[in-house]
Amino acid sequence: MNKKGSKELPSVLDIPDLKGKRVLVRVDWNVPMHNGKVLGDFRIKKTMPTLEYLENAGAQVLIATHLTNGSIDALDPFVPEGMRLLANLRDDPGEVENSVKFARSLAKQADIYVNEAFSASHRKHASIVGVPQLLPSYAGIQFKLEVKELSRLFKPKHPFLFILGGAKFETKIPLIKKFTKIADHIFIGGAVANTFFRAQGRDIGKSLASEHDFDAKELLELFNTKKIILPEDTVVDGGKILDIGPRSAESLKQKILEAEVVLWNGPMGNYELGYKVGTLKVGKLIADFAKESIVGGGDTLTALRELNLHHEFSFVSTGGGAMLDFLAKGTLPGIEALK
Ligand code: ADP
Ligand code: MG
Repeated sequence: MNKKGSKELPSVLDIPDLKGKRVLVRVDWNVPMHNGKVLGDFRIKKTMPTLEYLENAGAQVLIATHLTNGSIDALDPFVPEGMRLLANLRDDPGEVENSVKFARSLAKQADIYVNEAFSASHRKHASIVGVPQLLPSYAGIQFKLEVKELSRLFKPKHPFLFILGGAKFETKIPLIKKFTKIADHIFIGGAVANTFFRAQGRDIGKSLASEHDFDAKELLELFNTKKIILPEDTVVDGGKILDIGPRSAESLKQKILEAEVVLWNGPMGNYELGYKVGTLKVGKLIADFAKESIVGGGDTLTALRELNLHHEFSFVSTGGGAMLDFLAKGTLPGIEALK
């Protein structure tokens, strides 16, 4: 018997007989919207191969998603003909509470469950971990690909360069800890760098840094690995560090050229306020020079879409927080639920 952790994920492509079967597909169509219009359909598009496969195999497809920033009707145009989209999963408090009652109400509408919501699979919600206990359950095509591509980073080719930015320090520190053991270099930009500058005793003024006062000693120990590279110059405005500077981006070029694999998560600066040059430069360098590039993160994808760079990488993960959790822990509740 396989150990739990290493057991193969059952794939939607291995379901023996789909003809006439009712298949509930959990997707993550919780996409960015504004004034009722979908701004980015990347995550939606990535679910289509699974939906079409099921349809072509003769299944009756039921699609379920949560949505946090708009009305579920806005998603109707994306529902392929012949399929049905259920009500917003979050309309029922049982979804987030992972109530058995809600899981049962979903499961009784289907014969088979497919998880094609990798980006929601870090959450122990009813549609992610509850339903798979009640129905034969499988991973979608993109879901399997996410697990495969991201898992390769645990035993990467070298040199392996990890470029990390963004702001949510709490979600990034476990990654830094883990990848100081795996990567050859970790370049840290964004507001995450500010927290490290502070730990070094530098005055960061009013710059955004982690609220939580991280143990400076712990952070400084990470420096002892000699793998962490901080920006050598920054863009400062109104007493705040808001982006990496031009020299930092330029120095990264050499590291990107040398690397066999580059993993990138997190914008290099406060791009929403216009400090996007660092993110654009780093994105373009990776796109132009990396042999292999793996990119992901909620805000990272938003920035890439704005900069029109999202087609330029070897693999773009649909996972935001889920990707970070998977990279940090090697699995997710939604993965374990399928085993
Ligand atoms: P992701 O979702 O890609 O993992 P995060 O959520 O960790 O990334 O962080 C993204 C946020 O970090 C963006 O809102 C961006 O503006 C912000 N950010 C990056 N650098 C800075 C900085 N120097 N100062 C303030 N905010 C920053
Ligand atoms: Mg984010």
